[in-house]
Amino acid sequence: MGGSSVSGQLQLAEQQKVLNDLLLLGMAPLSLQEILERGLELIYSLSWLPIQAKGCVFLWRQGPAPAGGELVMCAQRNLEDSLLESCATVPQGRCLCGRAAKERLLVFAERMNAAHVCAAGTVRDHGHYIVPICREEELIGVLNLYLHAGHRRNGTEEEFLRAVANTLAVIIRKKQAEERIAESEARLARNQTIARLGHWIWDIAADRFLLSPQMAAVFGLPAAIASLDDFLERIHADDRERVKQTILQARDGRAAQEIDCRLTGASREFAVHGEVEPCLDPQGKAARIEGIIQDVTFLKKAQNDLLLSAKIFESSIEGITITDAQGKIQFVNRAFTDITGYAAEEVIGENPRLLRSSRHDPVFYQGMWQELLQRGNWQGEIWNRRKNGETYPEWLSITSIKDGRGQVSNYVAVFHDLTAVKRNEAQLRFQAQHDALTGLPNSVLFADRLGVAVGHARGSGGKVAVLFVDLDNFKRVNDSLGYTVGDLLLQECAARIRGCLADEVTVSRQGSDVFLVLVEGIGHAKESTDAARRIIEGLSRPLVVDGHEFHMTASIGITLFPDDARTPGDLIKNAGLALDRAKEAGKNTYELFTRGLNDKVQRRLTLENDLRKALLKQEFLVHYQPRVSLADGRMESVEALVRWQRNDGQLVSPAEFIPLAEETGLILPLGELVLRIACADVRHWRDQGFPLRVSVNLSPRQFHQEGLVGRVAAILAETGLPGSALEFEITEGMVMTNEEKAIGLLGQLREMGIALSVDDFGTGYSSLYYLKRLPIDTLKIDRTFIRDIQENPDDMAIVAATVSMAHRLQLRVVAEGVETLEQLATLCRFGCDQIQGYLFSPAVPAANLFQFLREGRYLSLEGVDCHPAEPAHRTRQ
Ligand code: C2E
Ligand code: CA
Ligand code: CA
Repeated sequence: MGGSSVSGQLQLAEQQKVLNDLLLLGMAPLSLQEILERGLELIYSLSWLPIQAKGCVFLWRQGPAPAGGELVMCAQRNLEDSLLESCATVPQGRCLCGRAAKERLLVFAERMNAAHVCAAGTVRDHGHYIVPICREEELIGVLNLYLHAGHRRNGTEEEFLRAVANTLAVIIRKKQAEERIAESEARLARNQTIARLGHWIWDIAADRFLLSPQMAAVFGLPAAIASLDDFLERIHADDRERVKQTILQARDGRAAQEIDCRLTGASREFAVHGEVEPCLDPQGKAARIEGIIQDVTFLKKAQNDLLLSAKIFESSIEGITITDAQGKIQFVNRAFTDITGYAAEEVIGENPRLLRSSRHDPVFYQGMWQELLQRGNWQGEIWNRRKNGETYPEWLSITSIKDGRGQVSNYVAVFHDLTAVKRNEAQLRFQAQHDALTGLPNSVLFADRLGVAVGHARGSGGKVAVLFVDLDNFKRVNDSLGYTVGDLLLQECAARIRGCLADEVTVSRQGSDVFLVLVEGIGHAKESTDAARRIIEGLSRPLVVDGHEFHMTASIGITLFPDDARTPGDLIKNAGLALDRAKEAGKNTYELFTRGLNDKVQRRLTLENDLRKALLKQEFLVHYQPRVSLADGRMESVEALVRWQRNDGQLVSPAEFIPLAEETGLILPLGELVLRIACADVRHWRDQGFPLRVSVNLSPRQFHQEGLVGRVAAILAETGLPGSALEFEITEGMVMTNEEKAIGLLGQLREMGIALSVDDFGTGYSSLYYLKRLPIDTLKIDRTFIRDIQENPDDMAIVAATVSMAHRLQLRVVAEGVETLEQLATLCRFGCDQIQGYLFSPAVPAANLFQFLREGRYLSLEGVDCHPAEPAHRTRQ
């Protein structure tokens, strides 16, 4: 093959052109595949190279040793589909191509043979030039060309194809480098967008501001910004000067700086982080400034949120514990330390179990975990233990936190120390159930405990005792020494009572000087009387309060469940009845409740009921008992005494119903009724020519009733009886409580002409001297003095002295209950003015008295020595 022949010249030129065209093709903005495919076409176009227009280019893909790698088909021309499939990749060493790659030698095949494994049986007979594409010993790929079967090997052809392979190597390398760059640029742009990052350049000389496409996209800015000032306009006014100075400093040569600011002149406000750096020319002068800018709005917000949560976390008064999924403590806040006493470093890495108290059993914790696992949270009250060993209640709420995959990553426990809350609750409860003065349980708590005790005793068959304790004469202390001393004394007494009884016994204060004691689980009544005795003994020891010494006594009533009552209310009520009896018995003693007491109560209840009905049914009558003058034995006046005639005809004694009427207030209508009847009767007799006077008993309740004077005046007016024909009998006690008022009231009655007498004189405490101050006319000496006057020298002396003194005070004296002539004689001798008694007449119905008047009945004083030689009181001397 001479190079000088014409055809040789032509062939060379053609070869040169193909190589040039190949190089140009490599510059074209085409993909590597396209370049290689067009390259194959160029080779086929050579007229002097009689090869098939069929072939491909493989690229070498390095793989791990020992396989070493494989060929991957990148471009092909006119290959059968079966080949495209079987030759898509060819391992190193396999078939002809694999061999060429392995040995990096041109492989020639004249026709198909056993070495053609890839195309076996699928294509017609053919030959091959297979040329490795290498550059500096490095395999890049393989060029595979198809020959007509029987084509002979030719050195010129081989040489040309090696040159083609070398050119392809250059093109492939260049193209691969370009693709790598484009790929990395695309990746960078993508990353910048993801990182919300852009960059800018300020061309100082031209004052032009260039933005990267990412910067424009991320911040919604125009692709070009006119000038630096235009850019600065888009910075938040407060940050603008700082940013400007940073850029100007860079212009003056200062090295890279970082800056945070707000970008406002964009699609919205952004928080941005920026870096500014000068680009220096060879003279060291800044030609332009470059910067990057990143959107940190979200980061800033997250940071702020984090700061805020950290602040909340730290300053919370709730204790906070965060554990990992295994329950290991990761964080605790300050309140945790304040509440538990453990510092953070003492508990981090530990299990919250270290706070457990022994107050809850394992079942409690199991329940808690079960709920936490099922529902994701648990809350409730729990007792934990502080570092100092103290247990305390807390309100705990635990929440499980799940990660993106739905797995529990943490548990957050928030707890509130309930100690103070509990203490307040307990205090409030204590106050509601205790007496402020003595600290003892009050009636509320007592009722509660009594109810429980009774219920319990009902079930167990035991006994319960209630002791009603009343301090004797306590009122006197208050009256004489004041409430302060009284309160102090009450406190001391409460402590004494409490102190002398077992702890299980409930001692409560019911108010004023009354205490209720509850003794539970007793076997025999004696245990309750033992308690009563201990209280009385305990109080009897001298008590010193505020410098005063006291010897306290108490009266106590006792009831037992179930013997005396079946309900708490009845137990207390019956204890009260027993207490009344203890007082009647002279105080400083205890009484057990008896059925009799209850019967008495029953009777009283029925009586009260009957009394009310009797008033309505007008079952009351007035009987009259004459009062006889000892001067002439004549009936001077009568005492009106009420009688209750039940519908069965039976007369009930006023001694039985007057006290109850007094207690219930029924005495008011009853008293008015008696007064009206008495006035009417006496007015009637006086009209018949008998100048009689009437005395009517006035009860304490009536005496203290508002408007008494007006009522009396109305009745006098109504019946037409002159006031001077009326006398009221009052008792000493009535006037003693409010002396001034009593004197005023009595004065008003006196002005109406009404006479006043002191009934039952001698049974009270008042002195004659005291009575002198009252507008009284008459004394009625009590029947008890008269009864024994003959036998008892003391009574005789008292009566004699009373008559004598009364006379000196200008008072008349009436002796009550005179039954015998001997009594009459004695009284006559003492100078007594009048007598009243069975000797002359009991109280009789009005009709009988009228009869007496008409008969002119009188007391015969014949044989009675009414003229003593000397005054009675001297007879004793
Ligand atoms: P009193 O005012 O001391 O009345 C005298 C009582 O002595 C009457 O009893 C009378 O029947 C009784 N009596 C009179 N003479 C004798 C006697 O020689 N021997 C004995 N053993 N007793 C005698 P009575 O009627 O049962 O009244 C009892 C009390 O009831 C009265 O005592 C009085 O305090 C009260 N009372 C009676 N009627 C009234 C009334 O209308 N109003 C008020 N407030 N009290 C009344
Ligand atoms: Ca009387
Ligand atoms: Ca009397």
